Amino acid sequence: MDLNELKKMITGKIMENEPMANHTSYGIGGPALAFIKPKSINDLQMIKSFAKKHQVPVNCIGSGSNLLVSDEGINSFVVSLEKSFKKILFDENKCYAGASVKLSKLVKECIKQNLGGLETLIGIPGTLGGALIMNAGAFGNEISNYLTAIELLNSNGVVEQVSANEIEFGYRSSTINKNDIILNAEFQLKKASETEIRKNRDQANLSRKSTQPLKFRSAGSVFKNPKDFAAGYLIDQAGLKGKSIGGAIVSDIHANFIINQANAKAEDVVQLIKLIRNAIYKKYSIVLELEITTLGFPEGTFNA
Ligand SMILES: Cc1cc2nc3c(=O)[nH]c(=O)nc-3n(C[C@H](O)[C@H](O)[C@H](O)COP(=O)(O)OP(=O)(O)OC[C@H]3O[C@@H](n4cnc5c(N)ncnc54)[C@H](O)[C@@H]3O)c2cc1C
Repeated sequence: MDLNELKKMITGKIMENEPMANHTSYGIGGPALAFIKPKSINDLQMIKSFAKKHQVPVNCIGSGSNLLVSDEGINSFVVSLEKSFKKILFDENKCYAGASVKLSKLVKECIKQNLGGLETLIGIPGTLGGALIMNAGAFGNEISNYLTAIELLNSNGVVEQVSANEIEFGYRSSTINKNDIILNAEFQLKKASETEIRKNRDQANLSRKSTQPLKFRSAGSVFKNPKDFAAGYLIDQAGLKGKSIGGAIVSDIHANFIINQANAKAEDVVQLIKLIRNAIYKKYSIVLELEITTLGFPEGTFNA
């Protein structure tokens, strides 16, 4: 496979063997075969067809704020929409936004329009695309609550409009096909006073700042909350706050956060995850499910 061929086909940038540590909030991860910043839908279609021809998987990422990538890296093309697909448009209560718009930016623009609904998601550090795949949420609100439709590039390279009610959204999950690339989304928001929206936003900001270790590198909550319990509470009760392996440590502010404290390797995080899962299973007979997305690990890596 000659990547120069692909370079001639697209206008976006291709970085060969690019360390994923440069593109994840953890600051962890070995190289991707190629890290690609497409500039247009046409670029994306070219990348998809080139990858298909050479049987290389394609992973689309946003800000990498929910990602743990292995130290060995990923044998795939990693596509980042970060610099493209950034438009935000309003039409009365409707909002159309590109997949690489940051959630915080989207909330700010909605406030300017006196449109409420998304403001409690303000502190989630990712893009709209990542938020939709994960059905990101905070303080009882989820990104899917106000979604009416998405536009995506499907695995055949065709642009498709999908209505929100064709997608099943659950707790940090969606049925959006993992091989599809989200391009844009449409929301139906509600008119509200600026004071009310700002109040909701400020409350969410304050709660986040007082309960999360925001000064350190992490990918947010590592585990989903099991039925009836907060994962952080269980990990805390198991006495694991402050437990460290290599450069990774269980936050003593929020036990469901594993922090990259000192040049942690992915392997340090993996070992800590396994230790936690083991301990929680032994103490409560509960199997903690991962909330973070993992790339480049062999199957079974995270089993306790
Ligand atoms: C300090 C901190 C606090 C956090 N708090 C919260 C919280 O309160 N609630 C919450 O839900 N999450 C939280 N997170 C996790 C994370 O920010 C969210 O999951 C966020 O929505 C991920 O967005 P991203 O753009 O970074 O996605 P990435 O991490 O880049 O990717 C996540 C997944 O989405 C896919 N993806 C991304 N963009 C696209 C696209 N355009 N098309 C198709 N697939 C795509 C990726 O392939 C991957 O599977 C937190 C993280 C941190 C670091």
